[in-house]
Amino acid sequence: MIYKLYPYGKRKAFNVTYDDGVQQDVRFVKLLNQYGLKGTFNLNSALAASEFEWIHESGCVVKRLKTEDIPALYAGHEVASHTLTHPYMHDLTKEEILRELSADKANLEALLGQTIKGFAVPFDYYSELIAKCVEECGFEYARISEESHSFHPQKDDYHWRATVFHCCKELEDLTQQFMESCEELALFQIVGHTYDLDIENKWDLIETIFRQISNQDDILPMTTIEIIHYLKAMDQAEITDQSIQNNSNLSLWFDIDHTVREVKPGERLFHISI
Ligand SMILES: [Zn+2]
Repeated sequence: MIYKLYPYGKRKAFNVTYDDGVQQDVRFVKLLNQYGLKGTFNLNSALAASEFEWIHESGCVVKRLKTEDIPALYAGHEVASHTLTHPYMHDLTKEEILRELSADKANLEALLGQTIKGFAVPFDYYSELIAKCVEECGFEYARISEESHSFHPQKDDYHWRATVFHCCKELEDLTQQFMESCEELALFQIVGHTYDLDIENKWDLIETIFRQISNQDDILPMTTIEIIHYLKAMDQAEITDQSIQNNSNLSLWFDIDHTVREVKPGERLFHISI
């Protein structure tokens, strides 16, 4: 009996993917770090540069982080693009879309000194044209605004759905279901903006969830790109009754007859004793 696992023999993966890069991220990242969790943060470099702010109808001030504060804050987490200026992309030409994507990618890469591989769609408009542009600009995935409400890993990297929006009333139920889930390669991703936690008074709830997740030994905190790379590597593996061939450059992990086994990059593991 072969059962696919996440790295280090973990059965499940957890990630948060948060948009906009606002000041409330400071408190949020502190919580993630306190509980040993990993986030993906989707930023608009031009709005950071102008220190853009707006006032939510609740009175909450939503202000972007300063560009210079970005590298230190998100160290150890993933930074991804969320377009240059956060436009509704419905009316944009292909050239305008490409500019929003490529300029943001270039700015973030210059700021962080690393390749930006992920993209999260601003607002909720997405199209095949945008998906094509995302791929053309060299991003490896696009997280869209739709939720999956499922723990099953997504199949389409350019229409990637997180599990649940953090203000959704099913957040707590889904968290419990995930903790109890035995699904193979179960994945739980929470999506949101940290300013909602002020507006909706949900900081205690999110901390409770972080504590529960971090207390469960079989859950591995991962960034979105780490998850995508690992699932892709797993898809390339050749698994037969006799052996597992790892065709990727990442170690893969399996439960074979109740024993956790690592299959190193390029290795073939024979799992039937002769
Ligand atoms: Zn946004």
